[in-house]
This record gives sequence, structure tokens and C-alpha cells, in this order.
Amino acid sequence: MERVNTKELVKKYDFKFTKSLGQNFLIDHRVLDDIVEGSEVSKEDFVIEIGPGVGTLTKELLTKAKKVCAVELDSELIPILENELGEFENFKLIHKDALKVDFNEIIGDEKNVKVVANLPYYVTTPIIARILNQNYNFKSLTIMIQKEVAERIDAEPNCKEYGSLSVLVQYYCDTKIVRTVSPTSFVPQPKVDSIIIRLDKLDKPRVETKDKDLFFKIVRQSFNMRRKTLRNAIKSMKIMDAETMEKAFENANIDSKRRGETLSLQEFANLANAVYDLTVNS
Ligand code: SAM
Repeated sequence: MERVNTKELVKKYDFKFTKSLGQNFLIDHRVLDDIVEGSEVSKEDFVIEIGPGVGTLTKELLTKAKKVCAVELDSELIPILENELGEFENFKLIHKDALKVDFNEIIGDEKNVKVVANLPYYVTTPIIARILNQNYNFKSLTIMIQKEVAERIDAEPNCKEYGSLSVLVQYYCDTKIVRTVSPTSFVPQPKVDSIIIRLDKLDKPRVETKDKDLFFKIVRQSFNMRRKTLRNAIKSMKIMDAETMEKAFENANIDSKRRGETLSLQEFANLANAVYDLTVNS
């Protein structure tokens, strides 16, 4: 199969990049190989690609997967993709915003669903959060994202990158960094380094929570007020009186003078479950 020459296609169709749509197209075939290999896509897999661009990664995926469904927002790219990839019977193109499209409708009864994408960087975090929170039936996400966001996703407690995004992703997934990618692998070149990261969805969340929404509220509150002690951060949620709160910390075996960034996922779960028992469930 002839591989896509991104620069040639851009020239052929006189395509004009839209910066606000995060359009940095891949030109480096070794990086494409590493995304495809890292995703371990095979003939059993139904792949969803977000933001196919001119189809550089899409074409690679079409030869490896059972089916590829690509979601692209830019109307300028739709005729190019239809023209270049229309011959593939296992290709489906959806002209929609990945932040609004109903992935359940796309997935249908498919079992082996893998998301593979060189994500538009301006919406990386909302797209990841949406796919994880909506509990879509997918096995893994192999995505190229800004290096700094990948480091936040992969961070451990007690480091400055550890935050709500680390907890959200690690709650649902195992994380594995595939490789770093330099700006020279794209046209136009982004200002930052990128990372290919793979998120493998766990069979069940990493920690048991009695109320998932309460757990994430406490996590967000703890990191929104990073410099405050947990006692002060949680107090400002105004969901219980001071005495109940101290009891919750005691039951969870957590010192309320600690800061949120020192808590593991299990400790956040213990705290949220203790709050739940003393408030919602009392
Ligand atoms: N996959 C191509 C590649 O690797 O060369 C292009 C990747 S480029 C970083 C991001 C792509 O996402 C662009 O094609 C852009 O038009 C598209 N895009 C931007 N915002 C989007 C959104 N909200 N929903 C779907 N696609 C979007």
C-alpha cells in the first residue's frame, strides 16, 4: 500500500491550515508506525479516529483494522478524505464535532473498540474527559497529545504534575507512554513536544467509590485549592459541619492538614467514602 504523503496532499488540494482547529498534520512515517504499533490494532478491532486531517494515520489504520470510523470537524477536509479514502470499504467518515458526537451511536454493538488519534491540542483534555466520563465501551485510547498533558496524566502523588486529570484517567485506565515526538514530525510544526500515550481501560475503576460524583467533586476541590490544606479545601465545599468533617478525616485515616496533591487514588476514595457515610448515608 502506498503511504500518504501529507505534504503532497496538502499541496494537491491547496489545503489551508486552520490554527484554531489544532491542525498539525503528521509527516513522519516512523511516528505513524509507532502509533499504530502502540495501539496494537488488529483485524478484530473497530477503530474510532478523532480528527483524521488528510487521512495520513487513517490510511494506516484502514489496512490494519476491521473498520475505521473517523470523526472530523473541518468541512474543508471532508471532500479530500472522501476522495482519497473512499475506495476503502471499511472506512466511515462522520462530519461532526468530537465533543458533541454520540459515540454510543457510532459504537453500536461493536465489542473491540479502540480510539486512535493525533488529537487537536486545543481540546485534548475535554475530549479525554468526555470519552472517560461517559463510560463508552472502548478497550483503549492511543493518542498523541502535548507532552505536558501526558505528563499530568501519568503523574504520581507528590509531584507538581499530579492533579485532577491524573486522578480521572488513572481511575479508569492503566497508562503507558509509548514515545516522545518532536515538532519536526508535523506540518505546520507545533510549539511544543508531543507524546504518544496509551490508556487501557480497566475492567472496573481502580478504586471503589460509593458515590463517584462525590469522589470527583472532592478530588477537583482538593486540586483547585492546591495550596490549602485538605481541611480548608473540603470545608469550602460546605457539604457538612466542621465536626463531621474532622470525623470523616479520622474515619478515612487521613491527616486533614495534608494537601490534596499528597493523596493517592485509594486515599481520595477512602475520604470520599467516609464523607458519604457521614452525610448522604447517615
Ligand atoms: N490525524 C491527522 C494527522 O495525524 O495528520 C490530523 C491531526 S490534527 C492534530 C487534528 C485534527 O482534528 C484536524 O484534522 C482537525 O481539523 C480535527 N479537529 C479539530 N477539532 C475537532 C473536533 N472538535 N472534532 C473533530 N475533529 C476535530
